[in-house]
Amino acid sequence: MSEKFLKNLTIKKFYQSLLKREFSCYEVISEFLSFAKKEDKKIDAFLEFFEDAKNKAHQIDLYLEKEVPKKVPLLCGIPCAIKDNILIEGKEATAASKILKNYFAPYDAFVVKKLKENKAIFLGRTNMDEFAMGSSCEYSAYKVTKNPFDLERVPGGSSGGSAAAVASGEVVFALGSDTGGSIRQPASFCGVVGLKPTYGSVSRFGLIAMASSLDQIGPITKTVSDAEIVFNLIKGKDLNDATSVNYEKFKKRKKEVKKIKIGILKEMFLKGVQKEVLEAFSEVVDFFKKEKFEIKEISLDSLKYALPSYYIIMSAEASSNLARYDGIKYPSSLEGETWKDTYKQTRGLFGEEVVRRIILGTFVLSSGYIEAFYKKAQKARELIKLDFKKAFKEVDVILVPTSPTLPFKIGEKIEDPLKMYLADTFTIPVNLAGICALNLSTLKFKNNLPVGFQIIGDYFSEDILFDLGKYYERLAFNI
Ligand code: GLN
Repeated sequence: MSEKFLKNLTIKKFYQSLLKREFSCYEVISEFLSFAKKEDKKIDAFLEFFEDAKNKAHQIDLYLEKEVPKKVPLLCGIPCAIKDNILIEGKEATAASKILKNYFAPYDAFVVKKLKENKAIFLGRTNMDEFAMGSSCEYSAYKVTKNPFDLERVPGGSSGGSAAAVASGEVVFALGSDTGGSIRQPASFCGVVGLKPTYGSVSRFGLIAMASSLDQIGPITKTVSDAEIVFNLIKGKDLNDATSVNYEKFKKRKKEVKKIKIGILKEMFLKGVQKEVLEAFSEVVDFFKKEKFEIKEISLDSLKYALPSYYIIMSAEASSNLARYDGIKYPSSLEGETWKDTYKQTRGLFGEEVVRRIILGTFVLSSGYIEAFYKKAQKARELIKLDFKKAFKEVDVILVPTSPTLPFKIGEKIEDPLKMYLADTFTIPVNLAGICALNLSTLKFKNNLPVGFQIIGDYFSEDILFDLGKYYERLAFNI
């Protein structure tokens, strides 16, 4: 099997080839593992490869010998990667933090259970910013993942390992998590597809929590159809996550593709967007204009509050969620003389960015400041929701760039947290509102780098995003 063949495999192609027995599962998984290990010497997308993948592949070959082809699940034998904050029973899960080193998951996350039921094969766990806090993977306590298109640049974050693994062809698809853009921004930097699902559509059970009112798990894939396949298999009500819902009950009805009304935001272009990104984005808008879609300029005035509100709400929730890592409830490699020493030493394992957010979060929740910061941010969040609600009365989807810049150089923003935070300007409003968005690549690379854009949709309108995305992909990239 050539490297090119492996790199080009999508879920759809893999499935057809496996059923026709063009390759055995053992054969293809062995090839993937050795290709991924070799490739990863440059890219560093993985924190660990799972050697038991070959054994699982062998079991799938045995299963295929007796199974009626019609009943074979869609992800059968497909190599995928899991972000290091999603639990796989018996495997280490560190959220790329030293504090969780040697923590082995005692159970499967809901999404992992779903993937296992569908017979996907986990090739390994992928690198990320520590506790999903960051936009570049540089805040990982273990390694810095490189962008497959330029090894001197970041892959984005926090699901940078997952996006780089898919973009380099080391796996066919991956799971990431998105609290403020962590699926879409790395997908954009690595030129792949990434979906941030509507809040509540995918269970968060078994996801190491960052900010619980914002976190959602979603797929990173090579094509929109693949994102649709994975999303449909992982979504749904789970009794272990009270915020998850029965998707079918809430789902927005589909529309004829050509009737989808597209909104463009005025506010997104005020300042700070790199020239190349604007250019690539305008080409996408022109594409839809040429295809005779109805395009409307809309205004979402409250978006100016999104970034500050997010950093208050997210830090507040993260500081509470991270209180559990005290060296007692979770195993600690450090043991002091007293429980207080253990506590202190263990908490000392957090990286600088995580500490910054814990301090900010405890501050905005503290008595005397809670009104001025946390409660005010919650009010701003409501305004953002209302603004989107109004917008979706006029249009079905909204197009915006995913990131204001092209993939930046490793080290470029690490000294300046504010600069790093600005990377999330266009992705954060979606999480605050709880709606869904899909990252796709624009028509052309700029400066030899991929550029992404988002199709943002209303609650539970993933089907509309997929339909428009597939239409675009078919005409733009012949997929
Ligand atoms: N980059 C954003 C942050 O650092 C988003 C993180 C995420 O979505 N997990 O908060």
